[in-house]
Amino acid sequence: MVDASTPQVVLPATSHEPLQALPAIGQGTWFMGEGLVSRSDEVRALQHGLELGLTLIDSAEMYADGGAEEVVGVALAGRRDQAFLVSKVYPWNAGRDSAIAACERSLKRLGTDHLDLYLLHWPGSIPLEETLEAFDRLREQGKIRRYGVSNFDVDELEALAALPGGEACAVNQVLYHLGSRGIEHSLRPLMQRLGMPLMAYCPLAQAGQLRQDLFGHPVVSEVADGLGITPAQLLLAWAIRPANGRCDAIAIPKAVQPQHVEQNASALTVRLDDEALVRLDQAFPAPTGKMPLDIV
Ligand code: NDP
Repeated sequence: MVDASTPQVVLPATSHEPLQALPAIGQGTWFMGEGLVSRSDEVRALQHGLELGLTLIDSAEMYADGGAEEVVGVALAGRRDQAFLVSKVYPWNAGRDSAIAACERSLKRLGTDHLDLYLLHWPGSIPLEETLEAFDRLREQGKIRRYGVSNFDVDELEALAALPGGEACAVNQVLYHLGSRGIEHSLRPLMQRLGMPLMAYCPLAQAGQLRQDLFGHPVVSEVADGLGITPAQLLLAWAIRPANGRCDAIAIPKAVQPQHVEQNASALTVRLDDEALVRLDQAFPAPTGKMPLDIV
């Protein structure tokens, strides 16, 4: 169970919003609403996560063509105030007027009148100035509280930061897990200089061979066994470990199976000691040069 001693990430106060503390582990929703498992299981998973303190829920108009937002809407009916709700706009819907319309469609599917955070899903061809203007209008209208970006690499983030309103960007959501540490070389330090927390997507490496290689890696297994936790919990605790003494990463695993939700919530209480971190660093070294941004 989450309490005041569990790691939290602070979104700094803006000229319009007070400081916001968030649990360092939230809940993803990609592949929800696709009919892969029953909607009631997905709804229950999100509600269970909320009850366990995973109060940040991440969605996008892209996921299941809005179907994931509908699942979230059902999960949050009557308890919207318990969640910090994030959604994302497609880059081609991020224009001066199209972003307003896209956000309104998301709000309708989510059954709410506001998002806590609205992200540009990845950089596109619509000028960023237009997107920022739309985000600002949405904020003035009370439809979003904060805005952020996703899949922005160094050049794109620098360009954003140089624009009027760019300093208000709350987060950059990018792929980050033990098997993909490229952002540590230049992007994460830039985000730290900008005071911008990291939202780590695919913190469990999603699925497939990479995931199997990571979960089955002897060092991962040994370190996890030594701490009495699962490989998934180790990966989550690693992703949210303090950097330069500060908690500034939020991991957003997606989980439908109840035991997964429970494990993910209790990963908030796992502390990795120096020995564990050194062993993981040796097996999965930090990058020594700029790497292209990993995306899915
Ligand atoms: P994850 O790395 O979160 O992996 C999800 C998979 O891990 C699911 O199969 C899930 O199973 C399983 N899982 C969850 N918890 C555990 C556990 N404790 N032990 C073992 N397996 C577990 O991948 P995602 O791609 O879903 O990424 C997380 C979220 O990030 C997305 O859902 C989405 O919200 C966001 N995202 C954002 C992107 C962007 O471009 N901005 C791109 C990709 C993702 P099960 O569901 O059966 O419990």
